[in-house]
Amino acid sequence: MAKTGMDRLQELKKDIFKCIHCKACRFAYSGEPDREGIGEFTGKQGTVLYEGMVDACPAGIEYGWEAFWNAGKIWIARSILNGDLEFTEEVRDVLMPCITCGQCSAQCENKVRTVDIIESLRAACKEAGVPMIDKHQLVDRLVKELNNPYGGKADERFKWAKDAGLEKYIDNKDAKIGYYVGCTASYRQVEVAIATAKVFEQLGMNFTLISDEVCCGSPFFRVGAVDTAQELMNKNLEAFKGLEKLYFSCAGCYRTITIDYPKWMPEDQKLPFKTQHAFELISKLITIGKVSFKPNKELKGKVVTYHDPCHTGRHFAVDMEQEMIRESKNLMFDMRKIKERQEAWFDVPRVILRKLEEDVGIKFTEMYRIKLNSMCCGAGGGVRAGYPDFSLRTASLRCDEANAVGADILTTECPFCWRNLSDANDLYTHGLQVMGILEMISKYNLLDLKEKPTQKELLE
Ligand code: SF4
Ligand code: SF4
Repeated sequence: MAKTGMDRLQELKKDIFKCIHCKACRFAYSGEPDREGIGEFTGKQGTVLYEGMVDACPAGIEYGWEAFWNAGKIWIARSILNGDLEFTEEVRDVLMPCITCGQCSAQCENKVRTVDIIESLRAACKEAGVPMIDKHQLVDRLVKELNNPYGGKADERFKWAKDAGLEKYIDNKDAKIGYYVGCTASYRQVEVAIATAKVFEQLGMNFTLISDEVCCGSPFFRVGAVDTAQELMNKNLEAFKGLEKLYFSCAGCYRTITIDYPKWMPEDQKLPFKTQHAFELISKLITIGKVSFKPNKELKGKVVTYHDPCHTGRHFAVDMEQEMIRESKNLMFDMRKIKERQEAWFDVPRVILRKLEEDVGIKFTEMYRIKLNSMCCGAGGGVRAGYPDFSLRTASLRCDEANAVGADILTTECPFCWRNLSDANDLYTHGLQVMGILEMISKYNLLDLKEKPTQKELLE
């Protein structure tokens, strides 16, 4: 039987009662004692002192009141479980403007699974009969009708592939590897989809685009419409049946299918295929010496910085920490191993950026808040659709950080981050160029393939 939001909330009861309301989760810092801050900087959203601890919860920064910071939401969860509070529209309006960025869970020394709690609260709120906000009702209706939240026609999902001469990969029956494109790259940021598929082609990869692909369900898991999300999950599991591996170019789809699906699938079932983001493959091929890059005059000397998408960065890092905590017999001893594994995870995209610096001549420069402490782009958690002004102000705060380190190009590996950062860049005139890493590789024809990857390397 499908799980409900209230079931998940009960499963998370220990976490909810573990919160001591210390409010450390409202801040972020460099996380690296030997790394100096970049000092005070006045950007489009005001002045921020990038030293030590900085207010970091986008919802708290925007709304200010106690309930909007994470610790307030944990009080709400506790009160609901104790029967002291009922779900109402007022409670919903506190729960919804949260980007589910996970900054709070990364900061919490008590390891409270804050994003899980917030998403379960939202699902339980809907189950209690409180209607979703209008914008979320609209996207819920659209995805039920068209299998995507943008209102795009189902038969135009892979128009980008036809236009770019990549039609032969649609329903390519011989392939064991799938490329899950997702709705944002299919209907909006098609440059990300085209770049990814072209890089796969250059690598000699035999892959397939599945025409029955539907929305991964990410926005619906986030806003509490878990019935809709689970329907989409079941359609995708059926569509991708028989494949051994799925590659992704969207951080949100990758997180949803890898982390959320197993949580919402029946307990006796496992994900039937392996999953990996395209940047992990490129990073691995650089490490084993099969890929390097060609020099490029246009990019030489450009200052390039990297925005860790919450969904590939922090959410995976927190998930691996939770898994290791569950398995640990001596947490004091294992904490060092957890930190090492997280550090290795955050280094994966940075292997590509350092190689671009070495071969192409870009100047890779980190922002102040990175990795576990990375500031969100503002798009996730249903916030882009439901609260666009808040969403874009958050993206502009992130663009301010890129400006503070003198970046020319702000890269990321998620079309949804791309969209929001790019829109804020235009709206608030930050003067940046926003680009995906694979998009940069494809657009400037940078890939220098030394040796084709084997099928084993592509599948492992
Ligand atoms: S979630 Fe963690 S960091 Fe935040 S108030 Fe609770 S115990 Fe403190
Ligand atoms: S998930 Fe992000 S926006 Fe939501 S409470 Fe936590 S830090 Fe704030």
